[in-house]
Amino acid sequence: DAQTSPVADRKIDRSKMAVSDEVAIEIRDMNKWFGNFHVLRDINLTVNQGERIVVCGPSGSGKSTLIRCINALEEHQKGTISVDGTLLSNDLKNIDRVRSEVGMVFQHFNLFPHLTILENCTLAPIWVRKTPKREAEETAMYFLNKVKIPEQADKYPGQLSGGQQQRVAIARSLCMRPRIMLFDEPTSALDPEMIKEVLDTMIQLAEEGMTMICVTHEMGFARQVANRVIFMDQGQIVEQNEPEEFFNNPKSDRTKLFLSQIL
Ligand code: ADP
Ligand code: MG
Repeated sequence: DAQTSPVADRKIDRSKMAVSDEVAIEIRDMNKWFGNFHVLRDINLTVNQGERIVVCGPSGSGKSTLIRCINALEEHQKGTISVDGTLLSNDLKNIDRVRSEVGMVFQHFNLFPHLTILENCTLAPIWVRKTPKREAEETAMYFLNKVKIPEQADKYPGQLSGGQQQRVAIARSLCMRPRIMLFDEPTSALDPEMIKEVLDTMIQLAEEGMTMICVTHEMGFARQVANRVIFMDQGQIVEQNEPEEFFNNPKSDRTKLFLSQIL
């Protein structure tokens, strides 16, 4: 609850968290199977620019698969997904365009262990974007400053704490200048004292108007930062609402059961 939430003591500036009329992500009647297993069922979801969406639900409900479909890390079999007006098809050109607009942060940071922090941040801009090295390094330092660890630039991931590594992962994503950020349980692998520093970074992004979809069980973050909370169960979006209504007045029995188990 708000008392024990790691974000409770931070004053949050919602003034810039405006939701625009412009659609960022549009998902229509989307279905996905893993072999015979129907993992996502009839997903309909429209996300506007500037929205901060928290996705929650029991383990195995399809949260990761859903956000992996949004940047084409997984293929969907039925229905449509479009990102900033670009339809996600198996056409590689579109996939590249969508991936360059969508940043993704995973539970297990996925940094390259043999590269320095700076090199982790400049790799994709240099090799995918063909950004000159000097410029890529300047951008990387800008975002390492933003996540408050510029002094770690020349170290290797293994020399950093989990919270620091996750902030590097966020900075690395930002170096590609995404319009949308997807987070898949970014604090689940962290010790409690490190959760706050990562949530702070995410709050800062939200305050700058970033469109975000966050799979997380940090309900303090959901209450204070999200404009919409989505509950998934068994591959479906069961319920969605603004946080206040979602937590205080859940409609479905499945949502009530889930909330009673985590709050
Ligand atoms: P969540 O993130 O909500 O825990 P996931 O999206 O990871 O759920 O998984 C949803 C379901 O799909 C689970 O039953 C999981 O075992 C299954 N699943 C996930 N990835 C694969 C895969 N690559 N192949 C087969 N089944 C998978
Ligand atoms: Mg998951």
